[in-house]
Amino acid sequence: MATGATDSRDEVSEVNPEELGDLRLSEPAKAAAGFAAVRHSLKHALRESSFGRAASSWLGLNQKDGFDCPSCAWPDPDGHRAKTEFCENGAKAIASEAANKKRCDANFFRRWSVADLAAKSDHWHELQGRLTEPVVLRKGATHYEPISWDSAFRLVSDELNALDSPDEAVFYTSGRTVNEAAFLYQLFARMYGTNNLPDCSNMCHESSGAALKPTIGIGKGTVSLDDFEKAEAIFIFGQNPGTNHPRMLSSLQSAKRKGCRIVAVNPLREAGLLAFAHPQEARGLLGMATPLTSHFLQVRINGDMALLKGMQKAMLTEEENRPGEVVDHAFIEKRTTGFEEWKRELAAVSWEDIEKQSGLARDEIETAARVYWEADSVISCWAMGLTQHKTAVGGIQEIVNLHLLRGNVGKPGAGLCPVRGHSNVQGDRTMGIATNMPPAFLDALGKEFKFEPPREPGLDTVASIAAMRDGKAKVFFALGGNFLSASPDVEVVAAGLRRCRLSVQVSTKLNRSHLVTGKQALILPCLGRSEVDRDQFVTVENSMGIVHSSRGKLAPVSDALRSEPAIVCGVAKATLEANGDTSWDDFGKNYALVRARIEKVIPGFEDFERRVQEPGGFYLPNPAKNQVFADAEGKAPFSIHSLEPIALEKGQLILMTIRSHDQFNTTIYGMDDRYRGVRNERRVIFLNPEDMAEREIAAEQPVDVTSHWQGKKRRAQLFLAIPYEIPRGCAAAYFPETNVLVPLESTARVSKTPTSKSIVVTIEAA
Ligand code: SF4
Repeated sequence: MATGATDSRDEVSEVNPEELGDLRLSEPAKAAAGFAAVRHSLKHALRESSFGRAASSWLGLNQKDGFDCPSCAWPDPDGHRAKTEFCENGAKAIASEAANKKRCDANFFRRWSVADLAAKSDHWHELQGRLTEPVVLRKGATHYEPISWDSAFRLVSDELNALDSPDEAVFYTSGRTVNEAAFLYQLFARMYGTNNLPDCSNMCHESSGAALKPTIGIGKGTVSLDDFEKAEAIFIFGQNPGTNHPRMLSSLQSAKRKGCRIVAVNPLREAGLLAFAHPQEARGLLGMATPLTSHFLQVRINGDMALLKGMQKAMLTEEENRPGEVVDHAFIEKRTTGFEEWKRELAAVSWEDIEKQSGLARDEIETAARVYWEADSVISCWAMGLTQHKTAVGGIQEIVNLHLLRGNVGKPGAGLCPVRGHSNVQGDRTMGIATNMPPAFLDALGKEFKFEPPREPGLDTVASIAAMRDGKAKVFFALGGNFLSASPDVEVVAAGLRRCRLSVQVSTKLNRSHLVTGKQALILPCLGRSEVDRDQFVTVENSMGIVHSSRGKLAPVSDALRSEPAIVCGVAKATLEANGDTSWDDFGKNYALVRARIEKVIPGFEDFERRVQEPGGFYLPNPAKNQVFADAEGKAPFSIHSLEPIALEKGQLILMTIRSHDQFNTTIYGMDDRYRGVRNERRVIFLNPEDMAEREIAAEQPVDVTSHWQGKKRRAQLFLAIPYEIPRGCAAAYFPETNVLVPLESTARVSKTPTSKSIVVTIEAA
């Protein structure tokens, strides 16, 4: 069984070995949800767990006395909540977590070697049920084998304490990690001696925080759900709510019914941007959809900044024609700086460049601008369509500029809304999961726990990968997630992980990061958010800055599971010699003790224990909601950025990575992408029909994709070409399959987010 003489693990595939399936295509959907959403939710729920367990999970999901959806970070209503306060995506996430028909237990790992598991697809991994006990992959072994919790903690501590420097360890966090676990984890890492705390936000929304903090003074959005009821116009940039944040569609529908105009800006005409058939309404179930967008701007990939500049130009021109009627001069005078200089710079940008880079005609842009200035209150939402470009921070700051022009921040029905993809990614950052927390946070942490936190900034995700690749980071610890598959440049990540002395994954289900490992590896299985954790509850923060409780309802799938806070405490206790007055045992048992310490360190958490138990929780302070912005006088600067078109050589396209509808981040629930009319296949690339004709590529023809970055090529082989309504020169394909194409060094300016939405590629017949 467990041990083999050779380290054949180096041979295992770091990429999903999926073979081409039996692709079936249909017309892309023109509306999201409807009865099909209910049917698919049921199908997924019953696939992996019993009916009783599935039903119980649904009854607790997103209820005030229940548990928070572990999928996206869209908020729940403050007031009345429906009995089924979740979407198809949430139902799939809970079905996946509640799985009790299969188990990845000792028998499973005895049967399957790491190499054999790596030869299976990501979707197959997802279907093997929950991890039920801690397992270790010893040096040179071919199979994982059981290990006790104490021995596992000792193994981690031995390896951490054997490092020459704490900075040789990396402590990664996935955005599903709850507040208490995140706070303890960063405390442990900093007491151990490093700020190497990369997180999944480094790969997605880092650009939003980096753009907002220096302008409006806080790296978070400024709206609440209530504002959606009051908005006169809503702009949605680079976001696909139908798949990624489906309950946002209810808010959009409600806004639309009140007369709000919705403008969608996206390279793909996603079903959820077009219309919504509410599955909790009889008409929705019958397929009668509410049209959502009044204007759809099918922008070129990486063309948003140009569009925004065009809208701003159109507004300033209108202001010249109707002085004082378009731009809010009182707001600009009182609440902003740098307007005149910004205006001068904007005047130098030509309409020709704007049209060329955005791929939109001037009159389309002027129409969008008119919708903007005719509304007294405007919300702009965005997601990864904006955050994963070299110029992402600038692009988002152009949205801020747009809002500053009419004072559309910090008033009812108006504001900025970065929509986060992972349920507690915002909360984790609030708790201190970051490589460069401000001095005030570190001071408070050190004072409360009587130690001197390290002050040198730590390694973010991209820098951590480089450090592992270069042999400078030797222990990799991941609190949740599927780091290998979520990261850019997968081959480099795999090489880095393989160089580590130890890799540790805290997980609920099997994934590829368990198979491409350090010389030794641990899988530490944790409770899911839906599962009962004795008499304890945990807390999370959603996309709109509301902190609330989450209390699991289901019986754990195994008695051997531990909660994330308990696992962190176990590792910390074993590793840190001098624990001072930090009682890890008590923290791991009683989360109220953790919350009491959070209250002392992080502003906004006063009276935490009482307030978080109020139904629905509480809002964190957000000065930007009161129009108090970044500079010393509380003003927001206008930001100046130049257009930077991506220079394409002949035959090159810009590729963006996207999710399918049967997918949440790297978790592959199924092989279909219902809204885009793709079934039974993930290895597809969406192309403009004219681009295909120019390259003599036929529909469904197998192609290879090559990315080009500073003279270096990366290849992803065997994708089926799908003619699709996408702007000329653009292409789209699913991640993680195409993450191999994203160069590690190609990152957004300032935020260092990988540029997964603007990969320069060529395609050739396979
Ligand atoms: S919108 Fe997001 S948080 Fe809400 S149920 Fe759906 S996946 Fe879960």
